[in-house]
Amino acid sequence: MSVTAIVGANWGDEGKGKMTDVLASEADFVVRFQGGNNAGHTIVNPWGSFALHLLPSGVFYPHVENVLGPGVAVNIPALLQELEELRRRGVAEPRLRVSDRAQIVLPVHVLLDRLEEERLGSRQFGSTRSGMAPFYADKALKVGLRIADLFDGDRIREAVERCLDLKNILLTHAYSTEPIDARAMTESLLQAGSAIEPYVRDTTALLQTAVREGRRIVLEGQLGALRDPDHGIHPYTTSSSTLAGYASVGAGIPPGAMTRIVAVTKAYASCVGAGPFVTELAEPAAGRLRERGGSAGEYGATTGRPRRVGWFDGPATRYGARLQGATEMALTNLDVLSAWGEIPICTAYRIGERVTIDFPPTGALNRAEPVWEQMEGWGTDITGVTTYDELPVAAQRYVERLEALIGVPIRFISVGPRREQIIVKPA
Ligand code: GDP
Repeated sequence: MSVTAIVGANWGDEGKGKMTDVLASEADFVVRFQGGNNAGHTIVNPWGSFALHLLPSGVFYPHVENVLGPGVAVNIPALLQELEELRRRGVAEPRLRVSDRAQIVLPVHVLLDRLEEERLGSRQFGSTRSGMAPFYADKALKVGLRIADLFDGDRIREAVERCLDLKNILLTHAYSTEPIDARAMTESLLQAGSAIEPYVRDTTALLQTAVREGRRIVLEGQLGALRDPDHGIHPYTTSSSTLAGYASVGAGIPPGAMTRIVAVTKAYASCVGAGPFVTELAEPAAGRLRERGGSAGEYGATTGRPRRVGWFDGPATRYGARLQGATEMALTNLDVLSAWGEIPICTAYRIGERVTIDFPPTGALNRAEPVWEQMEGWGTDITGVTTYDELPVAAQRYVERLEALIGVPIRFISVGPRREQIIVKPA
């Protein structure tokens, strides 16, 4: 099986970065296919703990070619800064290829994102303010700039004029702020072009050849199924598709080439940003789970915002796994639950008189109440466990109950943030 997608079954932050880091050891390519530096993966490896935002999670393996596909939103200064951070911390120069067809996140996108959230005030979407919505809006409006444009002086000048045309009216009239100077913007884009040029490739041709040659490709998703613009918790979604189905589009490989889809979910639930979250815990219980969760507590890798936390949500995860077309699941952060004597899980939603295991649209979701089942805890440290048989029986029961609720086999169980803290569950 040469093409594997690693994607989120929930709201994001499921531990996809760790899973990609694990599976990248056997990959030739690790490819990002959507999103930008608006989210982050935390990876803990021999060099330390890293928050990657735009770089693919294969950058720690010298043999891996890391690709930002045409579907990615490329913030060039942010990308260069992440590369610099790796250098500073002693990681060997990664092999990075950036698609010449990918579009560029401009400072004006970041500015508009912030101004709009400020304008919305208490009605804001909880954007990470990295410019994603204005960036993808420009893509739809066909006024975005592609990386390839950076190497064509006339084209870039014309593209900047077109891009700023309406925005300067918005900036001055709707947001009462200064317009952007087209000449200064063109100048800084030309400089950004020189800095990024060594990495720019026709990644579509590169990956098409790789697929034909049967090379091992890992497609790395960002955020999770419930943030997908079509299927997620609208309007608290992200601006690009988070689904494995989109991976072939955003990476530029044939859909049929993807044979393995690993959907990642946590053993509990976490959600950064706004939107309905049925199993959410209130304080102080939330604080207890938040502090124990992840590698250093549940705080956003990009924003540092405290993540909302709750118990495992069966209907949400089953829906997310189905949307992803998961062929297998990876369950992360099981170790975090070792501190609880009893662990509630949500098996269904009660919406008015109705009990359902289906995941409804946002209005009904806001009214949904969790139907709980209590699972017995295991109460011992499992961070050193390496085989399924060694897991306490109560932990095995927990895993198997989740597997039944999701309806997809759990193949990987992660019991700590480090690479080696992974159990492969026998089929
Ligand atoms: P991603 O965006 O899906 O990669 O998720 P994040 O990296 O934002 O969040 C996952 C958090 O869980 C990070 O802090 C990881 O280091 C951490 N993590 C991943 N797997 C495990 C695990 O099995 N146990 C613990 N304790 N932390 C984990």
